[in-house]
Amino acid sequence: MKKRRLYVLSVDALVTEDLDFLRQLPAFGAILKDAAISENIISIYPTLTYPIHTTMMTGVYADRHHVYNNEIFTKTEGHLPWFRSCKNFDADVKSVVEAAKQAGYTTAAISWPVTEDMDIDWHLPETWVWDGDNQAMYDAFVKGGAKPEFLDEFWDDYCRGLTGLGEPYFSLAAHGATLAAIRNHQPEVIFEHLSMVDHTRHSNGVFAKQVYRDAYLEAEMMLHETLEAMREVGVLDETTIVITSDHGQTPVNRLVAPNVLLCRDGLLQVDAAGKVSSYQACFMSSAHSAQVFLSEPDNDELKERVYRLLCAYRDSGEAGIAKVFTKEEAKEQYHLDGPFSFVVEGEADCSFSNNVTGELSFRTDNSDYKYSVATHGHLPETGPKPAMVLNGPGIRKNARLDGMPIVDEAPTLAALLGINIGKPDGRAWTELLLEDNT
Ligand SMILES: [Zn+2]
Repeated sequence: MKKRRLYVLSVDALVTEDLDFLRQLPAFGAILKDAAISENIISIYPTLTYPIHTTMMTGVYADRHHVYNNEIFTKTEGHLPWFRSCKNFDADVKSVVEAAKQAGYTTAAISWPVTEDMDIDWHLPETWVWDGDNQAMYDAFVKGGAKPEFLDEFWDDYCRGLTGLGEPYFSLAAHGATLAAIRNHQPEVIFEHLSMVDHTRHSNGVFAKQVYRDAYLEAEMMLHETLEAMREVGVLDETTIVITSDHGQTPVNRLVAPNVLLCRDGLLQVDAAGKVSSYQACFMSSAHSAQVFLSEPDNDELKERVYRLLCAYRDSGEAGIAKVFTKEEAKEQYHLDGPFSFVVEGEADCSFSNNVTGELSFRTDNSDYKYSVATHGHLPETGPKPAMVLNGPGIRKNARLDGMPIVDEAPTLAALLGINIGKPDGRAWTELLLEDNT
């Protein structure tokens, strides 16, 4: 099979319900016209950006890539470390971007989560500093694997206002990197991730007018410039364009800090400064859900005691918990595995906080994705769901799928490129591809 060109754009938190609006925009509309579309995709649990993007890139569930949350559990409060590196994936897990490079393609990954330590030709890892400055962001990108000579191609034009996660600069950095890669190097396989739609939904609501008036118009402008850059260097017509996303969002009316209950019930201890001094059980939030870590995961007595307590919290309604999964149930039902012992799903309008002191229940303040008026992390079968739009060479025009699992995305991209990603958990959507890809 001849080599293809592929551009994959993940618009974080794009949902199937958005497609009718996007059809009216020039750049999105051009890609949607006659496109093959997989609608209402079933994501993975928890519906968080980092686990899902890792699945979108590898075709395996979290019990094989081990990105079980956005953040890595530590009992330290404040900003927890985020998953960044691919080093803990199972040895037989292969990313599409690395498999493409091994097959002879030139590659770029721009702001795609959990790509650190991957072998990629032009790479802007998704990373940031808290309370930093512009130089600290530059240094963080280099530490994450970006080559300084690549950063220097777009830094002055796109990144001078960048000091952390704040928009529009965070998305502009990704956009500048994509344009530089296309104009200067023409990579054959490009993965890009943009966050503005997700951020705007968090702050304003799932279907707020700001999502369409502001965030999607910014994404539209960027997509237009990206397609124009491909046209300028003569690769647009031979590039298969894929627009996709990771999860939807649902509204939040109530924030709950269940660690406050664990303190009350003697399973978590805080010092005079209000910091965790020791714990037997501790919740880590994944927004609409949470994971419960034990100090001694093999202690059956402790496990039984915590399980009974979690069920009591669920039954009393005080902690916003709708469901309790044991570690074994989470793995069996959702292929979710990690160093936690339990997973709890929140009630429909509830998001969880990591707080260990203060009020048990409080109002949203938009200070973080867990504390916003809308969020995710919920079970993948609930709420609005992502979509995947494919157009260009190799794609069957106007083909449709509905309700397919997101583990199928990477095998579909691998089939399109004619590359081997080992033994993914999903299968290629041959219904959307022309026959020389089957
Ligand atoms: Zn996301």
